[in-house]
Amino acid sequence: MKFQKVKLQQIGKKETKLTTIPKALEELVSRSQFIGADQSLVVYGGGNTSAKGEITDHLGRKKTVLWVKGSGADMTNAVAVDYPALYLEELLSLKKFEKLSDEEMTEYVGKALVDPNSRRPSIETLLHAFLPSKHIDHVHADSICALTNHKDGKKAVAEALGDGFAYVDWIRPGFELSKFSSQFSEMEGIVLAHHGLIVWDENSDVCKDKTINAVNKANQYLDSLAVKPAAKFDHAGPSDQELSDLLLALRGRLSKKSKKVLTVDNRLQELSKRKDLSAIAEAGTSSADHMLRIRPYSAVLPEKADSTNSISVIDKYVDRYTRYFEANKSLLPKGYSMHDPDPRVVLLPGVGSITTGSSKNEGKMLADIAFHTHSVAGKVLDSFGSADTIGDAEVFGFDYWPMELYKLSSKPKPQKFAGHVFVVTGAGSGIGRGIALELATQGASLVLADLGDEGLKETEKLIAASKGLTPEFVVGDQTKESVVIETLNSAIKNFGGFDGVVMSAGIGVSDSLETLTLDKWNHGLAVNLSSSFLITKHAMINLRKQGIGGSLVYIASKNAFSPGAGFGGYSVSKAGMLQLMRIAALEGGSAQIRANAINPDAIFDNSKLWEGGIREQRAAAHGVKPEELEDFYASRNMLKVHVTSKDVALTTSYLLSDESSRTTGAVIAVDGGVAAAFPR
Ligand SMILES: [Zn+2]
Repeated sequence: MKFQKVKLQQIGKKETKLTTIPKALEELVSRSQFIGADQSLVVYGGGNTSAKGEITDHLGRKKTVLWVKGSGADMTNAVAVDYPALYLEELLSLKKFEKLSDEEMTEYVGKALVDPNSRRPSIETLLHAFLPSKHIDHVHADSICALTNHKDGKKAVAEALGDGFAYVDWIRPGFELSKFSSQFSEMEGIVLAHHGLIVWDENSDVCKDKTINAVNKANQYLDSLAVKPAAKFDHAGPSDQELSDLLLALRGRLSKKSKKVLTVDNRLQELSKRKDLSAIAEAGTSSADHMLRIRPYSAVLPEKADSTNSISVIDKYVDRYTRYFEANKSLLPKGYSMHDPDPRVVLLPGVGSITTGSSKNEGKMLADIAFHTHSVAGKVLDSFGSADTIGDAEVFGFDYWPMELYKLSSKPKPQKFAGHVFVVTGAGSGIGRGIALELATQGASLVLADLGDEGLKETEKLIAASKGLTPEFVVGDQTKESVVIETLNSAIKNFGGFDGVVMSAGIGVSDSLETLTLDKWNHGLAVNLSSSFLITKHAMINLRKQGIGGSLVYIASKNAFSPGAGFGGYSVSKAGMLQLMRIAALEGGSAQIRANAINPDAIFDNSKLWEGGIREQRAAAHGVKPEELEDFYASRNMLKVHVTSKDVALTTSYLLSDESSRTTGAVIAVDGGVAAAFPR
């Protein structure tokens, strides 16, 4: 007999076949959204909620099920499909076992799923199944963790919440914790040390209120004990230039294994000025699951941080993590090796946190978690004088726990340019837009520059449509040195540095030498050549400070090798650009800074180059009608093809990537084949 799937898992999606959602599930979803909206209760997939209710199974029988949050699902945007249904009777039968390993438990729990294809249920499923109440909330609340993360946790919980709450010392989530906790079902709730809170009720709203009440009581208790923190540093934090140099050095150091974007967050600024900042970092993560994202502890930079002493802090951190790994290696599950030992969170006195990630979105997520975890540690120190952690071996057990690593392993493979940062000028139209779009679809973080913001906004829309990361804009005239500096600073401030710059801004300059005015000539040189000089100069200064090389890509022209009569101002500026590129290659080589040029020809898509009479002038020069110009150029090249901004973008992507790591000082033609313009 074919198993007929119950469609409960489709609730919340458009294709649902059910007309009514079970009330308990509906209440569970809305309660979870409420809880998920408050990061002091749960962050990014932490915590879980459940409800019990009845469904009709595939044979028409009434069955009691448990709906519990899927593993890794984020409550903020909870939908019914995040809550797989499991036959409660099957789950309760597991109580007869003395012990179950994580793997055995996961297998048994999987067999209880109403729909085997539904989302994998939480590792804490049995905690919810073994407690009899209809509605259960389990949150990793900041204030509850602050109550427990010190030597006298049990006493503090009793004083803060009364004796209605059971106190359970640290046990890693799983079968043992679920079975142990079930004995307290007659009480008001359970506090899990270094972990979080569990409350329950027959009514969903009352259950939610119990969560909020316990959290509020804990906060009031902590406030009543808190003493003002010890004296703070007077140090105002680094100047803009010092911070910029520091970020470049840090990004260079933290990008050695794979490229990282750095995110600066000021929410921990006050805390970062405390003299006991190191003790705060040593207190570890507030709830154990935070360490999966931000590592067991964070790095702390010196009060007067500079490039040299900061890099040495990172090196020491890596040594310490490696020693901790070696010391606990016997506990490592099969098939796992050491995580990247670099810190994910770096605390900078006077500034706050600097987090790493493959994008700003990831950096922000880590900054959110760091804010909660370290704020809790500050509160513990203020209220109880010192903090207590779960110990290295237990930390290691969690740090390398396959059940939790599963959550992270479901992430897609990183994109080609994940963690890479590029600056593209002239990104509001034509070739620059094509390049920006291509780099964005490969996961790059971008700073896009152009004269006006209209074109940039259009480029941003196209990037959003192709699911690229939201770019930063710099609007201004790149012939001005101050604008060039601002553009590169935007990359440093927003992403910690950059890996390459694409000089794509340019204008056409027509007229024969006898009619060309000096003003027009100078303007062409300023936009096409002097601006590239300024960008090259400042990019090289910054890339040298970052210390991991870089790639400069010059969008020149077929005209650099094969000039056109009546197009001298343009052709000279582009020929100069090639010579500039060669000098950059010569001078940058020692710092692994590569410089290469692309010579495109006749790119028309979204291009402004042909505006202002250039199209008409070039058409006349070739003896064709203006509207025939595209086809004329295509007929002129060997491959008889139209060349597009996408073609130039693909070559740019190659030159920016490590695929071209042995190439510098080169010119690549993207022109369909024009013999007179062969590079030589
Ligand atoms: Zn938990």
